[in-house]
Order: sequence, then C-alpha cells, then structure tokens
Amino acid sequence: MEQVNKILEQKAVRITPMRQLLLEYFLQNNGAFGLMELENAFPKSDRITMYRTLKTFEEKGLIHGINNGASEIKYALCREHCSPIHHIDQHPHFQCEQCRQITCINSQVIPKMELPKGYVQKEMTMMIKGVCPNCQG
Ligand SMILES: [Zn+2]
Ligand SMILES: [Zn+2]
Ligand SMILES: [Zn+2]
Repeated sequence: MEQVNKILEQKAVRITPMRQLLLEYFLQNNGAFGLMELENAFPKSDRITMYRTLKTFEEKGLIHGINNGASEIKYALCREHCSPIHHIDQHPHFQCEQCRQITCINSQVIPKMELPKGYVQKEMTMMIKGVCPNCQG
C-alpha cells in the first residue's frame, strides 16, 4: 500500500480508497484489464466510480488505454515517464489467442511510418497476436 500511495502522490492524484484499490490491482496483476474484468474482481465496488477512476488514471499518466479492436478498451500501467501532458506508450501490445491476455511489449518501439502528404498522425497502435509463454507447451 505504501508503494501505491507513493505512486499516486508522484502523479499528483488525490488518494481515495478506490484509487488505491485499482492501482494496487494493476501493480499486482501484471497485464491489461478492461472495466468488465475489474468489475468482476471487485463486485462490491461502484461501476461508475471505477470507470471514473480509470479515466483519472489515464489523464494523469498512470495507465494507458489499449484498443484491441474489440468493443472494450483495456488498460495497462504506464511506465514512470508518462505524464498528464504526454503519454509515452509507443510500444506494441501482444494478445494471446488462447488466454486473451494482453501484454505491453515495453522493450520495443513502434517504428515511425512515412505518411503520404497531408496526413497528420495523431497516434499509432500495434497489436501482435500469437501465443504467450504461459500457453505454450
Ligand atoms: Zn502512458
Ligand atoms: Zn496465453
Ligand atoms: Zn502498453
């Protein structure tokens, strides 16, 4: 919990029980989670508060959203250098076709693309699909 409070303070996020709860969950369970999974993990918690907490975390540079092409956005922890003004999450994501788990591939950077004239890039996502180490063998 000490670590949780420290991170919240660092990112200038006011400490509330829900924020502590969710951040601790992200820290303990390495991976990406959608609102539905978090609801299942904390069935007694209020859905709206949970949703707002995710939005606050995203705005403050604590977590980043991952669009896997499905309807639900998943969230994963940012690395330390993300800030409210600037998210630096230009890494690919890996989705396992068997357990559906999404992982940040932080060791890689999405390569820059040359766009045709007149196209302004806002963001780029890269989703790699395959089989994760847990599902092999
Ligand atoms: Zn970020
Ligand atoms: Zn897997
Ligand atoms: Zn990521």
